[in-house]
Amino acid sequence: NSMRQPIMAGNWKMNPATEADALNLARGFCAMLTELEDTCAMDAKEGCTEVVVFPPFPFISKVKDIVAKYGITVGAQQVYYENKGAFTGSVAASMVKSVGCEYVLCGHSERRSLFSDSDVNINLKVKKTLEFGMKPILCVGETQDEYDLGITQEVCAMQVSKDLRGVSKEDMRNVVIAYEPVWAIGTGLVCDAKAANDVHKYIRTILAKMYDEEVAQSTRIQYGGSVTPESVDGLMAMSDIDGCLVGGASLFADKFARIVNFKS
Ligand code: PEP
Repeated sequence: NSMRQPIMAGNWKMNPATEADALNLARGFCAMLTELEDTCAMDAKEGCTEVVVFPPFPFISKVKDIVAKYGITVGAQQVYYENKGAFTGSVAASMVKSVGCEYVLCGHSERRSLFSDSDVNINLKVKKTLEFGMKPILCVGETQDEYDLGITQEVCAMQVSKDLRGVSKEDMRNVVIAYEPVWAIGTGLVCDAKAANDVHKYIRTILAKMYDEEVAQSTRIQYGGSVTPESVDGLMAMSDIDGCLVGGASLFADKFARIVNFKS
């Protein structure tokens, strides 16, 4: 997978509680990276690991000011698919772009289950993100029930094809996919690395059908679901896992710094 640059992302979700805490987390993480000798994120070298953090909206701007000098970028946890107008409480792609976001999470399982994000809406959000020159991280994955039914592949195929409907081959260069089995998110139950890798390979076969083999092989696919410093190396040793989307552990500067500095 040498052609695919590793990408590690930290999804802070609705944490931490205050701006002061958020800036401390960002500073703490940068300080840990500076301490780790073999860090790659800091100098944006060719072949280095790309690092993105997703703070809550109110903190994005100031977190960006802190992390940018370490070569770390920021993203938004979600955007609405309309450009502007009477959508109280929503945030537009142009807004997060204008405060420096390079990435947008689309279709996170918490948005799907708690905020009724449908595949149709997620598809509109993916396209809106691309239209504004940002990169979507499209999250897909089966629930516990779907896992028990043995329909992981069907669920992932359905989500990938619906959520990427109308996205051009050109635009696929800017799309990252995150395979996140819902039963592994926030549960401490990390998916077996080999099993996750098999799903990643399967997703590539879907991309090959939708686009071609070049898109299938060049699209970066992250794994997400209870990734920790203990599990990251085993996951990253897999042929088709190109990075991780990290929730809980990204709220600890030391843990996320270790994850970013995975040993391959
Ligand atoms: C996530 O929010 O995408 C996630 C994977 O969370 P956690 O690492 O806490 O399971």
